[in-house]
Amino acid sequence: MQWSEWKAKLQERSEQIVQNCRQLAKRTIDQTSSYIQTHKKQTISVAAGLVLTVAAGASAQYYYTSNIISVYHVLVNGQEIGVVDNPAVVKNWTAAKLEEEQAKNGLSMTLADYITFQEERKYKAPFDNESTVRALSDIADIKVEAVKLIVDGKVVGYAADQNTADQVLAHVKEKFSGIPAQADKKVAVAAASLSAPAKSSPIKEVTFKEQVETESDSVTAAQVLPADKLEELLVKGTFKQMTHTVVEGDCIGCIAKKYGITSNDIYANNPGITENTLLQLGQQINVTAIRPFVTVQVKEDLSQKETIAFSTQINNNDKLPKGETKVVQEGRDGSKMVQYEIVKENGQVVAKNIVKQDVIAQPVAKIVERGTKVIPSRGTGRLSWPASGYISSGFGTRWGRMHKGIDIAGSGSVLAADNGRVKFAGWDGDYGKAVIIDHGNGMETLYGHMSTISVKVGDVVAQGKKIGVKGSTGDSTGVHLHFEVHQNGRIQNPMRYLK
Ligand SMILES: [Zn+2]
Repeated sequence: MQWSEWKAKLQERSEQIVQNCRQLAKRTIDQTSSYIQTHKKQTISVAAGLVLTVAAGASAQYYYTSNIISVYHVLVNGQEIGVVDNPAVVKNWTAAKLEEEQAKNGLSMTLADYITFQEERKYKAPFDNESTVRALSDIADIKVEAVKLIVDGKVVGYAADQNTADQVLAHVKEKFSGIPAQADKKVAVAAASLSAPAKSSPIKEVTFKEQVETESDSVTAAQVLPADKLEELLVKGTFKQMTHTVVEGDCIGCIAKKYGITSNDIYANNPGITENTLLQLGQQINVTAIRPFVTVQVKEDLSQKETIAFSTQINNNDKLPKGETKVVQEGRDGSKMVQYEIVKENGQVVAKNIVKQDVIAQPVAKIVERGTKVIPSRGTGRLSWPASGYISSGFGTRWGRMHKGIDIAGSGSVLAADNGRVKFAGWDGDYGKAVIIDHGNGMETLYGHMSTISVKVGDVVAQGKKIGVKGSTGDSTGVHLHFEVHQNGRIQNPMRYLK
């Protein structure tokens, strides 16, 4: 073989080796990335950022022998834990482990550690698959894929998945609003389309007052709560139960105060205990403070017909005696239709806002006249006639008997002869139904045989005011008024004073 021929063959061979070498490197990268693709779904945080150092230099091509092999340094979170001859050794172990954990917990598992591989090509490079896997299993941090519930920025708990979290939140809304979660959705839809208001339900909106968020997270399996537990936690705010043992002198209010809770908390925690319960010494009372993590806010529409009460207007009337009133217009209530927005928080009404009100009927005010005319209780000394009619019997002695007054015949009203104050009103022996008025100036007048009396003791009467009706009560033989005048306790002839 000619030198040139040999040189050409060598050149060809060497190019072939370089080509093979490049293909090998490419295949390794392809395989690795395809592995990453297929495993990405199950193990998001598993690592799979493979760092490959492919030592394929054209200058080394002549020295390849079957003893130069690839080994892979396994790094967990940047720390080397061993060397394997193939990344699949680690990956297969990881996949099997996750599958095993998943079967055990029924939750979606993930490997929280970040595993990387570094390839090394070396003559008779040492590796130990078994001890690497053992080291890995010692430190592997298996986590579950969970959904954390965040209330106002604070993590409250973990649900197995988004669906569970959504269901728990829907249940809590349902619990506090009394509205099935599905109806809630319907309302939300109806509220969104303004053209079709939800007539069937007064509920406009069911929301959490707090900012409630969910977010994916990897946690230990023990941190994940079953749906019912998570719901309980949201509703009660705690799992920790505190108990109080009743001692001498305890009362429900005192116990509540001691633990910073309310009596209602105690009633809620202890079915059977009411405000009337007699506490027994040694009795165990659950004094857990129930403070829900969330506040379910429900907005409801309420339309109701309401009464508009009439007002009363009082006008002074100087012709009406002081103390007397006269209704000149009766009041009448009006009505209106009021539309409210009721806001409830965890079932308690916290606001009742008026949205709109339409008056159906305006109220009619009651108008009252109030008398301002002051009537003096002191007489003038000049008397007006207490009744109409002729004098059937005068004052003085007749047939040997003293007649102490005058008789005015016929029926009709009896009027006060002068201003004064009623001193007597009632039955007075032979006088029958009688009234005595004290005129405050030493004079008194007496009215006898009346059929009805329309004043009472203490009334201030003006001259000419009706005090009753003539009659024939007492020692009388026909309807008439017997009228007497007394001055400083002495009988007077009324005719001397009558105008
Ligand atoms: Zn008489």
